[in-house]
Amino acid sequence: RAKGAGRNRYRFFEAEMTVATQVRMALEVSLRPALARGEFELHYQPRIDLADMALYGMEALIRWNHPERGRVPPQQFIGIAEETGLIVAIGRWVLLEACTQTRRLMDAYRRQVVVSVNVSARQLALPGFVDEVREVLARTGLPPGCLELELTESALIEDIERTASMLRELKRLGVALAVDDFGTGYSGLAYLRRFPIDVLKLDRSFVQQHDEDVSTLGFVKAFVDMAHALDLAVVAEGVETAEILEFLRAARCDQAQGYYLARPMPLDDLRGVIEAHGAPRLQNS
Ligand code: C2E
Ligand code: MG
Ligand code: MG
Ligand code: MG
Repeated sequence: RAKGAGRNRYRFFEAEMTVATQVRMALEVSLRPALARGEFELHYQPRIDLADMALYGMEALIRWNHPERGRVPPQQFIGIAEETGLIVAIGRWVLLEACTQTRRLMDAYRRQVVVSVNVSARQLALPGFVDEVREVLARTGLPPGCLELELTESALIEDIERTASMLRELKRLGVALAVDDFGTGYSGLAYLRRFPIDVLKLDRSFVQQHDEDVSTLGFVKAFVDMAHALDLAVVAEGVETAEILEFLRAARCDQAQGYYLARPMPLDDLRGVIEAHGAPRLQNS
């Protein structure tokens, strides 16, 4: 009987796998022409300074408007894009679009904001990546200090020497560097000291744990203090409640993003956020 149940389970699993594989293959096929067909757009999630609750900047997040499936979430296609190498062309588009739109936003409202762009390991591995960033900044006129690149811990462990020297080149351009989803990978703060990182983005799973367990306040406080001692700013991701926001302010976390503050939105909707929160005035740039 146990054997039979096992076989059924196996068949069920196999059928499920087939459906998943089919969906994945269909997505892969429609992902190839998506860029040329203009099916991508960027939404922006505000990042708020916890000291004064002003708008510090925003994270550019890709959205795919699939002609038949509607909106496909990044979790369903970024992995495919990385495996197929399509992420290189998509990432190039994201960088140019984010810098172009941010320059436009700054000019329209005369406010200074920092745009964060997610960069995949495949992009970072390209020999011409630093040149690409330099060219996009020159072409769009975005001040380098208004661009932040978000890297994952896994991108940093690949080829440490090469990556470190490339990040130093990016720093010389004047862009900011952040480690995304910090707390989910293997690296600790000591490991990150090899790289010229400015910002740690604490992963939402890490931030949200503290909803349930108040005793961890001391731990987060200690973490933020340690990051500050290493000259790193800390951004909390996934802030969904007023309690967590208060908790993070008490821990002297620098900035926060999350649904409680604002969801990702089209560029034009940032006007409302600027009006509600304020943002530093744009100097002459
Ligand atoms: P990420 O870079 O860690 O981005 C944060 C994700 O958390 C976003 O999901 C955002 O919508 C979501 N989020 C923000 N606040 C909250 C909250 O309070 N609660 C919850 N539950 N979620 C929140 P999104 O837009 O679906 O993107 C998912 C991931 O896809 C990103 O994670 C990033 O790894 C990747 N991604 C998105 N856009 C790009 C891109 O242009 N290039 C690359 N390489 N990856 C991207
Ligand atoms: Mg990110
Ligand atoms: Mg993140
Ligand atoms: Mg995350």
